[in-house]
Amino acid sequence: MAISSYDEETYRLSNPGFEEADSDIEISLRPKTLDEYIGQRKVKENLDIYMRAALMRGEPLDHVLLYGPPGLGKTTLAGIIANTMGTQIRVTSGPAIEKPGDLAALLTNLNAGDILFVDEIHRISRSIEEVLYPAMEDRAIDIIIGKGPSARSIRLDLQPFTLVGATTRSGSLSAPLRDRFGVLLRLELYTPNELAQIVMRSAKILGIAIEEDAALEIASRSRGTPRIANRLLKRARDFAQIVGSGDITVPDAQQALSKMEIDELGLDNIDRLILSTMITNFNGGPVGLETIAAAIGEEAVTIEDVYEPYLMQIGFLARTPRGRTVTDQARVHLGFPVIQE
Ligand code: ADP
Repeated sequence: MAISSYDEETYRLSNPGFEEADSDIEISLRPKTLDEYIGQRKVKENLDIYMRAALMRGEPLDHVLLYGPPGLGKTTLAGIIANTMGTQIRVTSGPAIEKPGDLAALLTNLNAGDILFVDEIHRISRSIEEVLYPAMEDRAIDIIIGKGPSARSIRLDLQPFTLVGATTRSGSLSAPLRDRFGVLLRLELYTPNELAQIVMRSAKILGIAIEEDAALEIASRSRGTPRIANRLLKRARDFAQIVGSGDITVPDAQQALSKMEIDELGLDNIDRLILSTMITNFNGGPVGLETIAAAIGEEAVTIEDVYEPYLMQIGFLARTPRGRTVTDQARVHLGFPVIQE
C-alpha cells in the first residue's frame, strides 16, 4: 500500500527550520492537489501529464527542478507531487546538508518511489553535488571505505526515487546538476486576480469573513506572491477584529496595509529605499547590485531574489549590462522629478 506522508505531522517533523508560530496555519493553507493549486497554469498542465504518465507506467516521476522567487509555492508543489504519486516526502535544504555523508544517509534511507525535496538546492557544496550525480543518474552512490592506499570505493544501489529541487534561480545551479533534472518548471509571479482567489481560499480555511473587494485590495498589494498575500490577510484580520466590524472590509484592509507601510502597489520600505537610494545617490543608475546592497545595508542576494523580480515586473527597475537603472515610472510613483533628456 502506498502511504502518503504529506500530512501535518511528518511535514513538521521533517522540517525543523519552520517557524513554529505560523507553521500550523501555513500547513493548513497549503493546497494538497493540483486542482486546489491556483494559477501557474502552464506548470500545472505539464506536471499533470508527467505525473499521470509516470503513474501509468508504474515508475517514479523524473527528477524535478522548481525555480522562482520565494513564496510562490515550490514547497507546496513538492507536497502535491508526493500526494498525487502516493509516496512519502522527505524534506531537507541545501544548507542543512553539511557533509557528503549526510546526503548519503538521506538517500540510503529512501523507500522505493519516495520524493526527496531539497529546498535551496543551489546552496549545496560541490563535494555534495558529486554524491548527487550518480544518485540521480544511476540510482547508486559510491562510498569510499578506508584511507590511504588501501581505500576502496564500493557502489551502493538506491531505491528508485524522485529528487525535487527548489531554487530561487536556476542560473546559480551548476550546469552538470541542472542537466540531470528531467523536468524544469519555472514559477511566475501571480496576477492580482489569482492572488485574490488565494486570499478567499485561505480566508475560508481560517474561518475569516472577508469581502471580495477587500481580498482584491490585499491581492493587488502582495507583489505577486501567495505567501505575502496570506500574511497580509492575517494582519488585516487583526485589524478588522480590533478596530473594525469583524468582517474584513476594504477600509480595514487599507488601514492594515498603510500601518504596515505597504503602498498601493505593494511596495514596502525596503523597495522604496532601494529605489530612492538609486535616485538620490546614483542618479538613477546604472549602478551595480553590490553597490546598491552596500548603500542600503541589505544582502545583494536578497535584493536580487526577493525585491528585484517584482520591481522589474511592474517596470520600476531595469537591468542593463552596466547595472540597474530606475525607470521614469518609479520616479513618478515616488514623487521624484523625471529627468528630461
Ligand atoms: P516556496 O516554497 O516557493 O517559498 P511555499 O510553497 O512555501 O513557497 O508557499 C507559500 C505559501 O503560499 C503556502 O502557505 C501556500 O499556502 C501558499 N501558496 C503558494 N502557492 C499557492 C497556490 N498556487 N495556491 C494557493 N496557495 C498557494
